[in-house]
Amino acid sequence: MSVKSEPPYPYDAPASQALFDRAEAVTPGGVNSPVRAFRAVGGTPRFMVSGTGPYLTDADGREYVDLVCSWGPMILGHAHPEVIAAVQAAVAHGTSFGTPGEGEVALAEEMVARVAPLEQVRLVSSGTEATMSAIRLARGFTGRTKVIKFAGCYHGHVDALLAAAGSGVATFALPDTPGVTGAQAGDTIVLPYNDLEAVQAAFHAHPGDIACVITEASPGNMGVVPPLPGFNQGLKDACARNGALYISDEVMTGFRTSRAGWFGIDGVVPDLMTFGKVMGGGFPAAAFGGRADVMGHLAPAGPVYQAGTLSGNPVATAAGLAQLRLLDERAYDTVDAVSARIQGLVAEALSKEGVAHQIQTASNMFSVFFTSREVRTYEDARGQESFRYNAFFHSLLANGVYLPPSSFESWFVSTAHDDRAVQRIADALPAAARAAAEATAA
Ligand code: PLP
Repeated sequence: MSVKSEPPYPYDAPASQALFDRAEAVTPGGVNSPVRAFRAVGGTPRFMVSGTGPYLTDADGREYVDLVCSWGPMILGHAHPEVIAAVQAAVAHGTSFGTPGEGEVALAEEMVARVAPLEQVRLVSSGTEATMSAIRLARGFTGRTKVIKFAGCYHGHVDALLAAAGSGVATFALPDTPGVTGAQAGDTIVLPYNDLEAVQAAFHAHPGDIACVITEASPGNMGVVPPLPGFNQGLKDACARNGALYISDEVMTGFRTSRAGWFGIDGVVPDLMTFGKVMGGGFPAAAFGGRADVMGHLAPAGPVYQAGTLSGNPVATAAGLAQLRLLDERAYDTVDAVSARIQGLVAEALSKEGVAHQIQTASNMFSVFFTSREVRTYEDARGQESFRYNAFFHSLLANGVYLPPSSFESWFVSTAHDDRAVQRIADALPAAARAAAEATAA
């Protein structure tokens, strides 16, 4: 049964609903990634047909200012002419060879040049593959089994990392996912985020067993919950003292929060890092990398196996390289500035209606929590009044602004979010803030 658009959702979307009905017949839940189904907020998921700059157009011909940006990758906006030109040039030469090619070398060189701790990288096709491979490499390198992760951090749908994960797992309040065996999850130690004492205690309780600590460099998958000062450095130090590897997951923050991602902001040097999203320019490209002595354990240089039919795909690498080359300091200044403007507008509108909220930021990533307390942990994030977010979301959607369909996600902007796009958001916010103020828990 589909989730029909009905009151209190003010906008009817018949073409999207017809597509959703078709999709539900052939795809579980009608979508290929759970949060897209709008189940947290209700209503009809919008089926998009095109994107230009800061705008998306849906199957009903309605245009939205996009504050999701494909969950981060589209930092230059949609269909950036130079990225499209690079893709067209690459695709004209063939789409996949299953051999090495220059494009993947050039993309790796660009990444290594931007992020100092990256001595070598291996390209893969999704962030999930990147974190899964980094964990395997850490275990292979250290000869240890256990992994520390933090509640509310999402690292893709890797079996061992789905415990207390953020993103869709948070949105749906899923318990540990069926299909993940006790053996797969048994070596995962889940700790509260921003709690260094818990990390010390875990190392103490499992001497010589912990292969790595994996953390989002600055979490965006429980909403934006940045590390407290010293937290990432404390993780790095604890790993170094105990012979474990520190893995910084920059799939979301990498090349988005600065030229060198979150590393460019906090300067904490990881042993391994993972990337995706921005580095693929809207195509399936991702990577993991770091210390050359650790990466040297990967096949064929070393014994830890990892491979991929489409890894380093020539079209994906051309898109990623074109996007990264356009991302100079000026581009980041532009994204940071527009993010700050939108945050200011949201705060003003909500304050005017007396709605308790927190806007939390990690450089140009930000999210709005409907709570009066600072959010430092997953538990804090779950304590927010999500029902207010749902009303806020639907009011903005009806007025042409597309937010993440969940209160546990970061919002994303791009260099293409110009004055006209910001004005549209400004015009839509007063009604949305009123809707949030008037919302009641179901
Ligand atoms: N790691 C982080 C921090 C992410 O935000 C995500 C996806 O949102 C992933 C890993 C998984 O990436 P993908 O969806 O490309 O598998």
